[in-house]
Amino acid sequence: EVSALWMRRDLRLTDNRAMHEMQRWVEAEEDRQWFLVFHLDPHFYEYSCPHHDYFFQNLEKFRKECDDQHIQLYFLHGSADEAFTYLKEKVPALTHLFFNEDEAPQAARRDEQVLKEMQQRSVETHAYKDAHFHRSDEVKKKDGGLYSVYTPYYRAWRQLEKEQPFECRLGRIISQQARLDLPQKAAYNKLSSYLNNNGKTWERTAEKDGRERLETFVEEIAPEYHETNNALSSDGTSRLSAYLKTGRLSVRTIYQALSEQLEEGNPGAEAFVSELAWRDYYNMIHATRPELKNTELKEAYRYLPWEYDEKRLERWKEGRTGYPIVDACMRQLNEIGWMHNRGRMIAASFLTKDYLIDWREGERYFAERLIDYDPSSNAGGWQWAASTGTDAVPYFRVFSPVRQSERFDPQGDYIREYVPELHRVPKKYIHTPWKMNEQQQKEYGCILGQDYPKPDVDHAVQRKKAIEMFKGE
Ligand code: FAD
Repeated sequence: EVSALWMRRDLRLTDNRAMHEMQRWVEAEEDRQWFLVFHLDPHFYEYSCPHHDYFFQNLEKFRKECDDQHIQLYFLHGSADEAFTYLKEKVPALTHLFFNEDEAPQAARRDEQVLKEMQQRSVETHAYKDAHFHRSDEVKKKDGGLYSVYTPYYRAWRQLEKEQPFECRLGRIISQQARLDLPQKAAYNKLSSYLNNNGKTWERTAEKDGRERLETFVEEIAPEYHETNNALSSDGTSRLSAYLKTGRLSVRTIYQALSEQLEEGNPGAEAFVSELAWRDYYNMIHATRPELKNTELKEAYRYLPWEYDEKRLERWKEGRTGYPIVDACMRQLNEIGWMHNRGRMIAASFLTKDYLIDWREGERYFAERLIDYDPSSNAGGWQWAASTGTDAVPYFRVFSPVRQSERFDPQGDYIREYVPELHRVPKKYIHTPWKMNEQQQKEYGCILGQDYPKPDVDHAVQRKKAIEMFKGE
């Protein structure tokens, strides 16, 4: 008997649930064999964007990490069901397929197809919960229904026991690794040509980088997280999202690393865990309401008359709206493929409530640019900011970009870091450079309309328009 471990968004050799289960299965009988496989989806390799580039660079690093331990990672390409049918033809001895499940609707549909195909060909399939603490159907109300409001969801979530990390040591079963006659050239060429032709080189793509960042976070940041996590200019959040996205780090390992602080009732660690629970919450919403990504969850807001303005949309994408805080956020995204959570809320609110542009445009742009792009958290975040989601910000509580800027970047350090045109502008004008007179513009080296744009919308006017749009007036 031979089993395959299908690697997906779980690129790690430690604390990997499906890997652990496959290892146990192999160890049960001496003549059992195993191998690792990754399926390259054309949707990814035919279209380059930072999110795909980052993922593939992690994959390539993972392949090398496997190599270092004498583990061969085999590649398949083409549509998922074709690829796995081909695998079974080439490896007739294949009898078991292990993998970690993905509840996001698109992935779940693909998995269903593959499983059907495999089962028809007498391959037993074994899927495990791994990417999240709890599956979408695990956190339920007393009456068995699902939560649609976060706070009570979190209360129930917090009560549930959390799993310990799973031990993985493929080295122990290396002698049972199957050597396959599976042509690799075509698939591997796809990956190498993608890697050679696309994008910038991302740093910190190794499994150990995730663990190192976790250590720094737990020691230096977590205890104060509740006080630092909204400050735009400080390193006050975990920055673990991209490691979670690629699976370089598991949620169990993170939880375990925080267990001491949690036992002591540390408010920073508690606040952090409540953020992590949002990830499970949006996974649950997306798994049970697949329309999350494209359709307003609040029915009353399904036909809002959004204004499509290509020029404004471009200005928002490039970070040239004339509102320094919004521009700093968007430039952070464009530069480093990550944006602070507070920044995501400010930028999303600005697009939808100041520019009155459809949230789906913003969701798509984030999906391309974020290296931590997660279909559930992204769509959830956008529907939250657009006031159209299940537990969203009410439409009449419109974020003021100036007020947000003053509160969360009081000295303007974050703005100056990402908007160099404003580098010399003092604190007094950093949130509202349009208030500088000509003399001041000259003095601070920032001529409005020339070095830095004047805002093309008035927040007070747009806020009123947004509220009227939601009211249907
Ligand atoms: P920390 O503050 O350290 O939080 C720890 C972890 O908790 C994060 O890594 C993340 O896994 C989870 N988390 C925190 N806040 C949220 C949240 N609101 N929703 C879901 N999970 C959360 N997160 C993504 O991982 N991918 C996305 O594509 C994504 N798109 C977003 C779009 C919008 C419009 C908004 C408002 C939020 C989005 N988020 C997304 C959530 C959040 O902004 C990021 O998870 C967070 O900024 C990542 O940085 P961090 O790891 O330092 O977060």
